[in-house]
Amino acid sequence: GIVSDFEAARLSVRLSAVAENFRTAQRLASPAVVAGVVKADAYGIGLTPVVKTLARAGCDTFFVARLSEGVALRKLVPEAQIFVLDGAQPDMVPALICHRLTPVLNSLAEIAAWSAAAAATHQTLDAAVHLDTGMNRLGLSAGELSILAGEHARRLSGLRVVLWMSHLACADEPEHKMNRLQLDRFKTALAMLPEGPASLSASGGILLGKDYHFDMVRPGLCLYGANPQGGPASPFQPVVSLSATIMQVRQAEKGETVGYSASHRLTRNSILGTAALGYADGILRALSNVGFVAVQGKRVPILGRISMDLLTFDLTDVEGPVHAGDQVELIGPTQSLDDVASAAHTIPYEILTSLSRRARRTYE
Ligand code: PLP
Repeated sequence: GIVSDFEAARLSVRLSAVAENFRTAQRLASPAVVAGVVKADAYGIGLTPVVKTLARAGCDTFFVARLSEGVALRKLVPEAQIFVLDGAQPDMVPALICHRLTPVLNSLAEIAAWSAAAAATHQTLDAAVHLDTGMNRLGLSAGELSILAGEHARRLSGLRVVLWMSHLACADEPEHKMNRLQLDRFKTALAMLPEGPASLSASGGILLGKDYHFDMVRPGLCLYGANPQGGPASPFQPVVSLSATIMQVRQAEKGETVGYSASHRLTRNSILGTAALGYADGILRALSNVGFVAVQGKRVPILGRISMDLLTFDLTDVEGPVHAGDQVELIGPTQSLDDVASAAHTIPYEILTSLSRRARRTYE
């Protein structure tokens, strides 16, 4: 017969919140189009359920990073516009054409490869062109921009530029001077180029206001419930919750140590709980001795190293009785995704994309 696991950990995804967050982004960015960024398996949340939800909410434009992600997405949304951030390396060109994917061209060389593909296949191909305005990561440099601007008819031959885009480095910090600098550089670049739709902002930029919205915004994170500018006040609804079952509750004496490397020594006689959740479930080991779980609505510290399948926490200050079989919350109403990220000195993106497939998932 079928062997079912002990009901260890549960990851629950509220798809209705994804739809609501999409509508909130639309309201904040209107009249700009809201594209859904669904790279990396929709930030670890699950490509298929997320994309079906977004498509039902009216989203018809998506961004992925990899070609393979675009190919998988094409099967889910036959008519949508799908942008591939990785661009058009020569060996990607046949598959991009076959699956009607739109590359985000990151250099003059990629523009040349895509234009050559248009000539070779006797068709006009859609393209997005990525202008670097300060990330110094991908995209046309200022020098490449000048060359393109001077020879755009030839360089873009066979191409329909459906998006001029750039990406903000510091949109999570509204007061950062990079925001205005990149906005000014982007406007200057657009003035040098043939007219067409433009996009500068992801989640953070949506909250920077109208000047930053242009014709399209490209949010990922805010659709998945994190606050793009940190802090508790967010217009976006939580999407993910993660809980685990307590396997044992035990007493341990002052002076004893907890877990691998004996990295935490108890400073009082304590009540400890151990739950069935570990780094193999995607709980960052960096949360060892610094993170929290919530029990009966109270945040209590994780003690000792997080192990592969287990973590241990302090129940001494929890008032009500706690028993094996009870639940602890890792992400939920008491402790948000943003709380977990800041305890681990990381960003919610890394928490989400680290979640593994072992915890049982429910989509509701
Ligand atoms: N646009 C580009 C070019 C990106 O690289 C990303 C993700 O990193 C996004 C948009 C979505 O960003 P966010 O999840 O912050 O909304």
